[in-house]
Amino acid sequence: MLSNLRKFVVSHKKIPILHVNNMCCSKMRSSLQRLKPHVPLGRNYSSLPGLIGNDIKSLHSVINPPITKIRNIGIMAHIDAGKTTTTERILYYSGYTRSLGDVDDGDTVTDFMAQERERGITIQSAAVTFDWKGYRVNLIDTPGHVDFTLEVERCLRVLDGAVAVFDASAGVEAQTLTVWRQADKHKIPRICFLNKMDKTGASFKYAVESIREKLKAKPLLLQLPLGEGKAFKGVVDVVNKEKLLWNPNSDDGKDFVRNPLLEMSDPELLKETTEARNALIEQVADLDDEFADLVLGEFSENFDLLPAEKLQTAIRRVTLAQTAVPVLCGSALKNKGVQPLLDAVTVYLPSPEERNYEFLPWYKGDLCALAFKVLHDKQRGPLVFMRIYSGMIKPQLAIYNINGNCTERISRLLLPFADQHIEIPSLTAGNIALTVGLKHTATGDTIASSKSSALAAARRAETEGGKKHRRNNEAERLLLAGVEIPEPVFFCTIEPPSVAKQPDLDYALKCLQREDPSLKVKLDADSGQTVLCGMGELHIEIIHDRIKREYGLETYLGPLQVAYRETILNAVRATDTLDRTLGDKRHLVTVELEVKPVETASVMPVIEYAGSVSEDLPMASQEAIENGIHSACLQGPLLGSPVQDVAVAVHSLIIHPGTSTTMISACVSRCIQKCCSWNFLYYVEWKW
Ligand code: GDP
Ligand code: MG
Repeated sequence: MLSNLRKFVVSHKKIPILHVNNMCCSKMRSSLQRLKPHVPLGRNYSSLPGLIGNDIKSLHSVINPPITKIRNIGIMAHIDAGKTTTTERILYYSGYTRSLGDVDDGDTVTDFMAQERERGITIQSAAVTFDWKGYRVNLIDTPGHVDFTLEVERCLRVLDGAVAVFDASAGVEAQTLTVWRQADKHKIPRICFLNKMDKTGASFKYAVESIREKLKAKPLLLQLPLGEGKAFKGVVDVVNKEKLLWNPNSDDGKDFVRNPLLEMSDPELLKETTEARNALIEQVADLDDEFADLVLGEFSENFDLLPAEKLQTAIRRVTLAQTAVPVLCGSALKNKGVQPLLDAVTVYLPSPEERNYEFLPWYKGDLCALAFKVLHDKQRGPLVFMRIYSGMIKPQLAIYNINGNCTERISRLLLPFADQHIEIPSLTAGNIALTVGLKHTATGDTIASSKSSALAAARRAETEGGKKHRRNNEAERLLLAGVEIPEPVFFCTIEPPSVAKQPDLDYALKCLQREDPSLKVKLDADSGQTVLCGMGELHIEIIHDRIKREYGLETYLGPLQVAYRETILNAVRATDTLDRTLGDKRHLVTVELEVKPVETASVMPVIEYAGSVSEDLPMASQEAIENGIHSACLQGPLLGSPVQDVAVAVHSLIIHPGTSTTMISACVSRCIQKCCSWNFLYYVEWKW
């Protein structure tokens, strides 16, 4: 009997994530165990090419490279797959750092917040800009832990391409699946990097298979490993049929040789590579008609004659079309395979121009940017990271914030180099900029050059929308799809050391919330206490830690509680009658309704009416019914938590003349509670 309802945390969508959370936990614990004292920044940065000698002309060319040479790239993966280590190697080989950072020593560039260095995990993504072989790469190191899914989401939407890093001994792990789906949602072309090929148990074949099986992606093997585990010494470039060997005596991996595979010296490897290349050609030809025509025409007799560039161009097309993903391998820790990965980023991933952003034509070259991250800097105030989609940003420029409907002025413009920021005179479309001076802009806001420019864009959108599909709101279509902010999962009270410090705590929380919209702060109406609501234990712990470090406030947290939601598992139908006489007035209403689960997650109940009910239902009665449904869903019968992911179908309704709307609401509400409590309950317990 008690089998029809279940209690769960927040929503259907979250359930897999929460399972992921459980799985991550042991890894998290081991990360947390790596707590080390804070290591002060002691790194050397080589100067930005072009800044040398203050040559403004070359500076300009460095700052605003041609858009075809820009790559906005994210690195995404499960925690501990090696994102931070890979990023460190990338920065080193591109010449921006002079020494190799090590996550285990806590001196990496991108994990610059004190907690990140101490824990050896990436919490807050940082944008890093560097150049590689004439390309400008803006790279975002995204956090891998589920508590920071919002950070990942926020970054993914401003990227044009991504590198998915895998632990080659583990293949596709839980969080990779989540991030992969997020990347699918934002249609981001990807490259896979099978890291940790040096680790005992590393298996190229297994990892490739898990990409195929779990991610349902088509892997294009552009490389084969030379050895695995301890024997790993380099990679084979399948496209060019070359062998890349790293000098075993080089301690930074800068030194490697690229040699063509020859029949004389490597007959076996050459045979294996030729087979892999032929398979790759066939695979790409299956996915790309233009390439298929070429292969079947000129080169059908001998694939060996097909030039590498032609194959690369076709691989690029299928990567951009997201019909397949190039796969490379290496070991970031042992400094092998990172340079070819960088080459692949420039060769196969798209430039900003190659992404199809439907809103771009509406702006006709005027400024359109998205604020995707806000950081609070003690000295400089809020720093806003922006992705520029069209137009240009300069210091002293007034900008219009469409979400906030306000105009503000940018005081300074910076290029983000992790914790180093370089002041620049202007930045054009395709780039990622860091602005100083914007006090009201928050994460997820869309920026235009002026209100009139935004209105003109809205008009163009309207005309175009008329041709295609209509959307509701003119202003809404201008807002670049907002970052979906998940509902908090955990909450706990937070108290300042004394009442006098409450304003300081309120200020700190306000700043932290602007940076991180997944943090919610509420006031408990009964106790008057401040309540922190976050995405997980670690999330709340980090906030607590940051309040202490960055705002000098020692605060006390109450016990951590889970924000449960309740839902129904099977449809239940019930009838209820309310018959009450108040004074000389009789209120009589009978309702028959059904509460049932819905397929797609919905916080609000979905309301349906049977044809006979909706036919001549007065507006006031409909409102009364819906009020009754909503109020019944505020408190579920299990724990009094909100009920969600349910639909309510009203099958029949008989209202005696003179019955008040309040009585209709009360009857509907009672009937829903009846449906729910009848078949309670089976619930999924939350386990750590
Ligand atoms: P992230 O959580 O994805 O940022 O991963 P990290 O870069 O912090 O690395 C997690 C752990 O894996 C650290 O102990 C690294 O030293 C280790 N690691 C990273 N890359 C490699 C690799 O290529 N081989 C091996 N054996 N270990 C690696
Ligand atoms: Mg990391």
